[in-house]
Amino acid sequence: MYQTSRPRGDSPVTIIGAGITGAWHALLLAEAGRAVTLHERSDAAMTESTSHWAGGMLAPWCEEEAAEPVITRLGIRSLALWRQHLPEAAFNGSLVVAHPRDRADFERFARLTSGHRRLDAEGVRALEPALEGRFGAGLFYPEEGHVEPRRVLPRLHAAIAKAGGAIKFGSDAEADDLDGLVIDCRGLAARDREPSLRGVKGEMIVIETAEVELLRPVRLIHPRWPLYVIPRGDGRFMLGATSIEAEDNGVSVRSALELLGAAYVVHPAFGEARIVEFGAGLRPAFPDNLPKIRIEQERITVNGLYRHGFLLAPALAELTLAYLARGEIDNEVMQCA
Ligand SMILES: Cc1cc2nc3c(=O)[nH]c(=O)nc-3n(C[C@H](O)[C@H](O)[C@H](O)COP(=O)(O)OP(=O)(O)OC[C@H]3O[C@@H](n4cnc5c(N)ncnc54)[C@H](O)[C@@H]3O)c2cc1C
Repeated sequence: MYQTSRPRGDSPVTIIGAGITGAWHALLLAEAGRAVTLHERSDAAMTESTSHWAGGMLAPWCEEEAAEPVITRLGIRSLALWRQHLPEAAFNGSLVVAHPRDRADFERFARLTSGHRRLDAEGVRALEPALEGRFGAGLFYPEEGHVEPRRVLPRLHAAIAKAGGAIKFGSDAEADDLDGLVIDCRGLAARDREPSLRGVKGEMIVIETAEVELLRPVRLIHPRWPLYVIPRGDGRFMLGATSIEAEDNGVSVRSALELLGAAYVVHPAFGEARIVEFGAGLRPAFPDNLPKIRIEQERITVNGLYRHGFLLAPALAELTLAYLARGEIDNEVMQCA
């Protein structure tokens, strides 16, 4: 990190977009005593945002399998911020399992990731009694957590208001019409200013059953369907998620079959579960799939959180705050015009 001269002191801040990126920025800035106004074009249900469709896994060590080290670095910092601001969120760790025929892929996952403990069949049963007898080996990542996006976004919005910030739902804001410092957290809608952004489709299914109880996200290592099952409470589970280079938000028959088939592999009782919802969101991604904080005088753009919005938003908001307060620059994610 190094110091640079920053454009503003402690003037009011306008944030556009109340998804997970904008919400964490508004929260940390309001708590730091800045006058914050957060504009969101949809209503408080946030169904138009990618954040509405997310799994909400906070899994910096599991992500080591495919992501750059910066994701783990910022993700570990975010976990601390989630714990500090939402101590009631579930931090029960994550469990990774595979069938014996997929042992080579399981060992590869173990090799590429850290922060885990190896489990035998008894260890898997001790953590998740519902999986007794189903898997002979597992990897347990005890420090990881997960949040329920559709519960946590309203809680963050309430915390922003409590800290003195103003939230305007149904407000389609245009940065060029706004005076002063603007933080653009519009996700994929920011393509007018960030043409290299693309949407990566993630499909998900919510099912309901009283027959299975899980305490933490379970990832299934599988050569064709890398799937996770996330407990959502009240007998509901989210099955996720595909990753497809397409920008429509429909769920294909093939994806649905794969997600449901893989859930059935995790536990046959999921075969009797009721389907509650099919849905898809478009993850905002830059060509390198890494997040960026772009600083152009009075305008800061935070975008490209791709598969890691919930994992990264708190740490990115903290970096933006450190820049505004002390002029600090994190060279891995910040770019100054
Ligand atoms: C199926 C799926 C599963 C996922 N699982 C995970 C996971 O387990 N863990 C994880 O960390 N990440 C996950 N992600 C990724 C995560 O959802 C995204 O990285 C994150 O939602 C991006 O958040 P954002 O706030 O940048 O964008 P968004 O959530 O899209 O928010 C942008 C907001 O800006 C608003 N907006 C746009 N234009 C304007 C305007 N002009 N004026 C006012 N408001 C405006 C939009 O309405 C929207 O609400 C998942 C994504 C998908 C699709």
